[in-house]
Amino acid sequence: MNLLPFENLPVHTPRTFVPAECNLGDWSELEPLFDRLEEAIGAADDAESLQQWIVDWGELSAALDEESSKRYIAMTCHTDNEDAEKAYLDFVENIDPNCKPRQFKLSSLFLEHPNRMDLPKDRFEVFDRDTAVHVELFREENVPLETEESRTCQQYQKLAGSLTVEFQGEEKTLVQMGRHLEENERKIRQEAWEIVADRRLQEADKFEEQFEELLNLREKIAANAGFDNYLDFAFREKCRFDYGPEECLKFHDAIEQSVMPALRKLQAERREQLGLETLRPWDLAVDPLSRPPLRPFQKAEEMSEKTQRIFDRLDDQCSQDYQLMRELKLLDLANRKGKAPGGYQCTLSESRLPFIFMNAVGVQRDVETILHEAGHAFHALATRDEDIYAYRHAPIEFCEVASMSMELLGNEFLEEFYETAAANRARRTHLEGILSIFPWIATVDAFQHWIYTHPGHSREERTAAWLELMDRFGGDVDWSGYESNRANLWHRQLHIFLHPFYYVEYGIAQLGALQVWANSKENKAKALADYHASLKLGGSRPLPELFEAAGCKFDFSAATVEPLTELVSEELAKTTA
Ligand SMILES: [Zn+2]
Repeated sequence: MNLLPFENLPVHTPRTFVPAECNLGDWSELEPLFDRLEEAIGAADDAESLQQWIVDWGELSAALDEESSKRYIAMTCHTDNEDAEKAYLDFVENIDPNCKPRQFKLSSLFLEHPNRMDLPKDRFEVFDRDTAVHVELFREENVPLETEESRTCQQYQKLAGSLTVEFQGEEKTLVQMGRHLEENERKIRQEAWEIVADRRLQEADKFEEQFEELLNLREKIAANAGFDNYLDFAFREKCRFDYGPEECLKFHDAIEQSVMPALRKLQAERREQLGLETLRPWDLAVDPLSRPPLRPFQKAEEMSEKTQRIFDRLDDQCSQDYQLMRELKLLDLANRKGKAPGGYQCTLSESRLPFIFMNAVGVQRDVETILHEAGHAFHALATRDEDIYAYRHAPIEFCEVASMSMELLGNEFLEEFYETAAANRARRTHLEGILSIFPWIATVDAFQHWIYTHPGHSREERTAAWLELMDRFGGDVDWSGYESNRANLWHRQLHIFLHPFYYVEYGIAQLGALQVWANSKENKAKALADYHASLKLGGSRPLPELFEAAGCKFDFSAATVEPLTELVSEELAKTTA
C-alpha cells in the first residue's frame, strides 16, 4: 500500500554512483557504498577528481535523505498506521546511526585530502567551512544519544497529535478547535479555549518529563563534544558563523523596545473595540469588530486553486513552480484525524522536488500557511540544478526569508479569496500577527537561552524563568484564574521539544522578508528578480551575502527592527478596520 500522496516522481539527474535497485532501508546494501567512497577519495589525486567525489558523495546523501523524508511523510500523513511508524523508526534506529559515523569518516577524509586547498575557493569555501564543523563536533558516543533524542521527539509528536477534546458533542482535534477562537460569541470561544488549554494541562507532567529527558540528552551531547553547555554547542552545530548569543540577546532587547509599544497599542485598540475591561487569552484571535470569521474556502482543493491564481498574478516563475507541484501531487493539504499537527515543507533531495504538508480547515491562517510553505518549495525548485548536494539547502535564517516574503507578496492578491474589504481585514490580521510573533519569538528564544545555561535547574525554577519572560513579552493580557495554563504555555511550542534554538531564525528572517516587501513597494519587478536570484544561490554563500542578493541587510539590531516596526505600523494604519 502506497502511503505517499505522490508516486513515480520524474528523475532529475540519473544516478551514476548509487545502484538503481539499491534498497536504501537495508544497511548491508549501503555499507559497500560507503566503503567505495572511502577508497575513491584515496585514489583522487587532483582537484577535479576530488570534485567528482563530492558529487558522488552527495548523490548517496541525497538518496538517503529522500528515503528518510518519504518515510517521514508517510508517518505524518498516517500517524495511526503502525507500518508507517515502524518504517520511519526503523530508518531512525537502524540506518541513521550506521550512516552517521560513516558520513563523519568521509568528512574527515575530505578535510585531510591533500588537494582540498586546490578546489576553487569561491565555489567551495562554504562547503569546506561547514564540513569542518561537522568533523569538529562529531563524537561516536553521541550517535546513540541522538537516536534516543529522535525517539523522544517522536513520542512528543505522537502525544501532541493524539490529543482530542469533546466540543459541542463532537470529538475534535486541537487543530480543528483553532477556528472556535474566532467565534464572536465570547462564551463559546472562552469555552473552546479552556477545553483545549485544560486538555494540554492534563498532559503537563508528561510534557515536562519528555522535555527533561531531552534536556538531559542534550546536555550529555554537548559535554561529550567538549562544550560547557548545550547553547554554545547548538550555535556551533547550527553553523551560526555570522551571529552569536550576544546578538540574539540584543535582538530580544530591540523587540522589547520597539515592538512591545506597538503591540500594546494594538492590544489597547482591540480591547476598546471589543468593549472589554481586560483582554483575556481567548480574546486575541477574534475579529475586534465582531464580524463573522473569515472563511476563505471550504475544501483544501479550492484553496489550492485560488493559491495558483495568486501565483499566476504575482510572477511567471512562482506560477510555473506551483503548477508543477499540483501536477505531481506534491501537496497534502486537508486536515484529517490521524495526521500529525502543523504544516511543513520537506524536500525530496534526490528527485529535487518539494512536498507540502498541511492541516487546512478553512481559516485565513491556512492561506498564510500555503503561501509560506510555497515560498519554501520555490526555494527547493530554484536550486534543482545545483550539483553540490549541500548547496541545495540554504541556512534556515534565509529559508524563512523565502517563505515569509511570499506571505507578504502573495497577500497583495488576496482578492482571489475575498472581497476587498475582507482582503484588507486579512492583510491587517497578518500584519498584526507579524508584530505579535516577534515577542513570542523573543520569549521562546530567551527561554531556551535560560534553560541551556542553567544546568541542574528545577522544574519550579524553569517555570519561574518562563513566567518572567511572559511578563516581559506577553503584553497586556489578563490570565487571572488561568495561572497554570500560562505557566505551561510553552508545552505547545513544538520547536522547544523537537528543534532546540530553531526559532530565532523566524525573527531574523522576518526582518529579511519585511525588507523584500518594502523593496517591492519601491520596485516590484526588481524585488522579485532579486528574490528569485537569491533563492537560486541555495546555501552556496554565507548568510550576509544571501541577504544582500535578496536586497536586504543581515542585521537584527534596533537599527533594523525600529524602522521595520514603523513600516508595519504605517501599513496597519492604512488598513484600519
Ligand atoms: Zn517556514
